[in-house]
Amino acid sequence: MSRSENENVTSFKALQLWRSIPQQYRDKLVRNVFCGNCGGAVEIVDYSIREEKYALLLTGKCRTCGKPVARVVENE
Ligand SMILES: [Zn+2]
Repeated sequence: MSRSENENVTSFKALQLWRSIPQQYRDKLVRNVFCGNCGGAVEIVDYSIREEKYALLLTGKCRTCGKPVARVVENE
């Protein structure tokens, strides 16, 4: 496997952390992302997951308008 330059690649560890969150809660998170273009809560699609220091960062697109949106999921 070669290393990708693409920042959108979800790391294995980030994916593991994401999957450790209960499915129900994850569903809630992806359906409650703020989109500045739509001016409200939207669903995030085509998202990737990155591991930050104390949180997971979801970056993807707004399902409604297609603009980039992001959501921080703090580890609690
Ligand atoms: Zn939008």
